Amino acid sequence: MTTDLHGRTQRLELADQNLRDFEAVVLDATPEGIVLNRSAFYPGGGGQPADHGVLLWQGVETRIAGVRKGDDLYLIPAEGDPIPPAGTVVTAAVADERRSALMRTHSGLHVLCGVVFREYGCPVTGGNMEPMTARMDFNLPEVPPGFKEAVEELCNAEIVADRRIDVRVLPRDEAFAIPDIIRTATNLVPAEVQDVRIVDIVGLDTQADGGTHVASTKQIGRIKVAKVESKGRGFRRLRITISD
Ligand SMILES: [Zn+2]
Repeated sequence: MTTDLHGRTQRLELADQNLRDFEAVVLDATPEGIVLNRSAFYPGGGGQPADHGVLLWQGVETRIAGVRKGDDLYLIPAEGDPIPPAGTVVTAAVADERRSALMRTHSGLHVLCGVVFREYGCPVTGGNMEPMTARMDFNLPEVPPGFKEAVEELCNAEIVADRRIDVRVLPRDEAFAIPDIIRTATNLVPAEVQDVRIVDIVGLDTQADGGTHVASTKQIGRIKVAKVESKGRGFRRLRITISD
């Protein structure tokens, strides 16, 4: 599928979010980064930071400290680590603890987004995450009494309900026929993108999204709304943490 290609790299994590180990061939390796023919390293985007991990080859280990998106997908080696030359077959491993935490956190943010829109009708204006902690910005003119506690309770009710989180790829026209997609993403999906990846928390929240997610809301764990900050006129920042 064309949407799963970045430059010369087939992005394996888009079709299989649980893939952590894979084999690949090095196409290019420079001090700027290592290009593989296939990769399950999430390169970062949509507020979700890039994966870490390792490449194993000929008895040597190259730690991967991040990913850079250019014409190709560049895996950034840890400083001082050996670099596999082009043509090398490597066994790669995505750091599981970090990625799994990011999947729970990312899905948690979508639950938050869905709950706040359903209950208060206000759109998301931004967001960011680290493993097990995140923030999301909303356009909410007035903060009703008990807002923080109510949002937390409603989010956790959606987790207990164990809603399925489906990922599918739709042609652009079909994707933008879904009202929720227009609300969350019209401006964020470049015009040249023909296939749109949809992340659907069934019955709660549907978004155009390139990130990695858990399979159902129960796998998120527990959401705590740690703080509601006012950053200016109508600009509210919610800080959340995820726990077991
Ligand atoms: Zn997302």
